[in-house]
Amino acid sequence: MATISYEKDADRSLIASRKVAVIGYGSQGHAHALNLQDSGVDVRVGLREGSSSVQKAEAAGLRVVSIDQAAAEADLVMLLLPDTEQRSVYEAAIAAHLEGGDALFFAHGFNIHFEQISPPEGVDVGMVAPKGPGHLVRRAYTEGGGVPALVAVAQDATGKARALAVSYAAAIGATQAGVLDTTFSEETETDLFGEQVVLCGGITALVQAGFETLVEAGYQPESAYFECLHELKLIVDLMYEGGINSMRYSVSDTAEYGDLTRGPRIVDDRVRAQMREILAEIRDGRFAEEWIAESRGGRQRFHELRERGRRHQIEQVGQELRAMMPWIAAGRQRPEDASGG
Ligand code: NAD
Ligand code: MG
Repeated sequence: MATISYEKDADRSLIASRKVAVIGYGSQGHAHALNLQDSGVDVRVGLREGSSSVQKAEAAGLRVVSIDQAAAEADLVMLLLPDTEQRSVYEAAIAAHLEGGDALFFAHGFNIHFEQISPPEGVDVGMVAPKGPGHLVRRAYTEGGGVPALVAVAQDATGKARALAVSYAAAIGATQAGVLDTTFSEETETDLFGEQVVLCGGITALVQAGFETLVEAGYQPESAYFECLHELKLIVDLMYEGGINSMRYSVSDTAEYGDLTRGPRIVDDRVRAQMREILAEIRDGRFAEEWIAESRGGRQRFHELRERGRRHQIEQVGQELRAMMPWIAAGRQRPEDASGG
């Protein structure tokens, strides 16, 4: 059975006795820094000189210093830069300041698991990974709740690394919802698999292919949009609230019969074989190697694919239809909250 920690399991005195540096002020960074500060933790934000986030963080009442100074002052460094940037910033401004007994924390296992960053012995290496985007981590906290999180330990130098991670998780609100023990490899591999196969890659490819099939067959793009994209939220909300059974209970018998008999024809043995192949690429490091090389090489292919996605017909149709449903746009996240992780 999984170990899940709640508020009563957290020793808040551990994080309270630390000087914490939150490096980066993006989706996760702003939420961690503000929640820690509101929980009474001694926190400073480390940003590069000239960063546009300096003003935002200061306006929110946080103390902002250079990354180098933040790491020098702190005995717990939480690295919340994009995963592809972490290694160079770590080497340039953080590594030299890590001393025995310090802690280096992450919100995703990528750089430790794929050995991009190798912290010195004597340092606790831990993870507190909220299972939700930063704006939710902040909003749930301000509403008295929290977003669930995973905790893991890659190196336990003090013997207290896990307890410190749970304490940190409590201070950002996660113990209100539940904090699940995992490992760096499980978190990294399942996170990448989930976003590639189901949450981001699988679902967008399914929606686009369904839309294209209807439009090719001569149906109105607007009908195809409502059917293949708009209604998805209603179905996902039902699954989120009560599981797949409860969703099936809510739809018509006709929809349920179509689901049960046609779903397995869409996700067939060939698709399952691809899922296993994608998992193998994640586990043996091929995906990480490819993405690190793409990032170092200027991200040309990434930008081309992104542009192609932005020009897809479903985006134009959707923009026009959503303009007639202003309540949808009102709930939209800001772009800085939208990155995955
Ligand atoms: P982000 O892209 O939103 O923010 C990164 C911040 O780093 C920004 O403030 C940016 O200005 C700054 N930055 C970028 N490059 C830099 C550089 N070279 N030097 C200094 N600063 C730089 O990142 P994020 O989505 O918050 O991700 C941070 C970590 O959290 C990652 O490890 C990610 O995997 C993890 N994570 C993210 C989410 C999510 O929903 N966004 C969820 C769970 C975990
Ligand atoms: Mg994720």
